[in-house]
Amino acid sequence: GTAQIGVTGLAVMGRNLARNLARHGYTVAVHNRTGARTEELVEEFGREGDFVPAGTPREFVAALERPRRVIVMVRAGEATDAVIGEFAPLLEPGDIVVDGGNAHFADTRRREEALRERGVHFVGAGVSGGEEGALHGPSIMPGGSDEAYAALGPLLEDIAAKAPDGAPCTAHIGPDGAGHFVKMVHNGIEYADMQLIAEAYDLLRTVAGYGPARVAEVFRAWNTGPLDSYLVEITAEVLAHTDASTGRPFVDVVADAAEQKGTGRWTVQTALDLGVPVSGIAEAVFARSLSGHTGLRRAAAGLPGPHRPPFGERDAARFAERVEQALYASKITSYAQGWNMMRAASAEYGWGIDLGAVAAVWRGGCIIRAAFLDRVRAAYAADPELPTLLADAEFAEETGRAQEAWREVVATAVRHGVPVPGLSAALASYDALRAERLPAALVQAQRDYFGAHTYRRTDRPGSYHTLWGRDRSEVRTDG
Ligand code: NDP
Repeated sequence: GTAQIGVTGLAVMGRNLARNLARHGYTVAVHNRTGARTEELVEEFGREGDFVPAGTPREFVAALERPRRVIVMVRAGEATDAVIGEFAPLLEPGDIVVDGGNAHFADTRRREEALRERGVHFVGAGVSGGEEGALHGPSIMPGGSDEAYAALGPLLEDIAAKAPDGAPCTAHIGPDGAGHFVKMVHNGIEYADMQLIAEAYDLLRTVAGYGPARVAEVFRAWNTGPLDSYLVEITAEVLAHTDASTGRPFVDVVADAAEQKGTGRWTVQTALDLGVPVSGIAEAVFARSLSGHTGLRRAAAGLPGPHRPPFGERDAARFAERVEQALYASKITSYAQGWNMMRAASAEYGWGIDLGAVAAVWRGGCIIRAAFLDRVRAAYAADPELPTLLADAEFAEETGRAQEAWREVVATAVRHGVPVPGLSAALASYDALRAERLPAALVQAQRDYFGAHTYRRTDRPGSYHTLWGRDRSEVRTDG
């Protein structure tokens, strides 16, 4: 074979990744279950580079130089297993299969183990950036063996997005499921970011009384400061857009029921299993879910709420400044939660994830790309053992400076009846983490009262139980 790499699964993502590779000078074998897609790719884009179309898995495998590098870009789930099942018998020890789909990291661990037994490297690679990213440079999060990365890394670094400092937005994340895990957390953080931005928008409309075009201007201004990010940029674009058929602001004609494909939900389910609080991501997932519950919403539509008019011009402008600070502090908090989760999983699975490298990889190509991520990278570069982003000196200083505005915004939202689950959960997380004493002491006492679940004391070691139903004397329960 003469092709340096192959792509099977030529829907939007696979096709664009194949084109990206070909545009970088690689000879790319291309294959798709339905052959018409392969022919289409070669007809439409054949002039962009060297493609070797293959009609069957056997032809595809034969077209590849060894060790073979095969990127699988099919619908995540059963299709991935079907394709692996079809190709695995044709591959030889040392060959590398890359799953670029949105697989659950547990599936990736299972597949990696199965292929490892046959001597085939399986790389679960998270790919972010949508179809444009796949073509012009995605953020790529590969997980797998060192040996596989050695053979694959240079190609991925070529086709990946480049950060503002020129570094490729890819790195070897860790073994087996580490790459897909990190991609999942990326999507969870994306959910949280989008929800926080949406709440800020809602406040600017309802409390500050701004129309969508005016809110777009505010977001454009924010995009020149610490909130500078792809998501804030596209938010301004969306808000400034007018619906062609009605002449109304586009955002006002879109049905207010947010959908989801499931990676946010996976993040929260996994966080629950790991015992890591990710309230910002969870609130974002729940907010989308609530928005789609038309029955519940209709049933509750008549419930009373406050009637407060929007602010006047001067108060509105001051409020908008505070919303910017609240949004920024909440962003730091929810990113901290995402990083806590990666840290916990890395310890649980022995992945050895470089938490700063993850931030570096997300500086370009992906949906949450932002200037902010370079600062996260710097925080972990300064202290790889940083227990939480909130403890980084600069972030601590910034949240400290923002906290009064943050409280004011959440309080104002509550007074005006504007739901801000993301902003308020972030603030609650901040306050809970910094609290000297938590009412968890009372919860432990309650548990001991009704279930004899025991408690530890602040003043001496050991576990204890109070004989609540008897004379309320205390017994030591750990011998
Ligand atoms: P789809 O998820 O729509 O999947 C379509 C592709 O899967 C087609 O090539 C199809 O082949 C193939 N396929 C489906 N079932 C089978 C099967 N049983 N055997 C063989 N091939 C099968 O394509 P996308 O390009 O949108 O996404 C590809 C992957 O990339 C997915 O895992 C997705 O989650 C992930 N991803 C997508 C992003 C996006 O923005 N779309 C962003 C990042 C990742 P056929 O033509 O024969 O039907």
